[in-house]
Amino acid sequence: MDSSSNQAEFDYLFKLLMIGDSGVGKSSLLLSFTSDTFEDLSPTIAGQERFRTLTSSYYRGAQGIIMVYDVTRRETFTNLSDVWAKEIGLYSTNQDCIKMLVGNKVDKENERVVTRKEGINFARECGCLFIECSAKTRVNVQQCFEELVLKILDTPALLADGSKGVKKNIFEENPSQSDTSTSSCC
Ligand code: GDP
Repeated sequence: MDSSSNQAEFDYLFKLLMIGDSGVGKSSLLLSFTSDTFEDLSPTIAGQERFRTLTSSYYRGAQGIIMVYDVTRRETFTNLSDVWAKEIGLYSTNQDCIKMLVGNKVDKENERVVTRKEGINFARECGCLFIECSAKTRVNVQQCFEELVLKILDTPALLADGSKGVKKNIFEENPSQSDTSTSSCC
């Protein structure tokens, strides 16, 4: 078997979860990161998602958890501590799992209600990385995923269990387009 052709598929395989209230922009962030585009997605099950409890299988084995809120909707921020952080505490099986708090929709600066300082403070409380971004303008979107993955790569306990492939420059085909990093480790 030609092992080099298998390894060309990917360098590392990580399980990342993206959580947060409906409408905060989770799908848009993913789309923005993976396809360099932003489509105005129509919210589907708006209002229901926060009541849905993810089962433990979603969390099992995840190396990274991205907690997203909308900087223009305060309840999406408070729900992260009231609902989502508790769920992580209940179900996350990986103690070393890297968490990242993401404040999305910073393009709507004049509608902002959650300050950057509040985001930083909450991230510090729960020991998360923190970044503010916009799926629409793509500001800091690539940075968000890169910071998280780099931190995972920097955590030996998370590199066990078959996540490793052949190590090479994982961002060589997709160089960082943003130098306005706002992420930090608390
Ligand atoms: P999800 O339910 O968390 O997956 O959220 P969606 O990705 O479906 O986004 C909900 C709505 O917010 C959609 O109408 C998106 O077009 C819009 N949206 C998502 N991200 C942004 C952003 O960064 N800026 C603006 N202005 N709108 C966004």
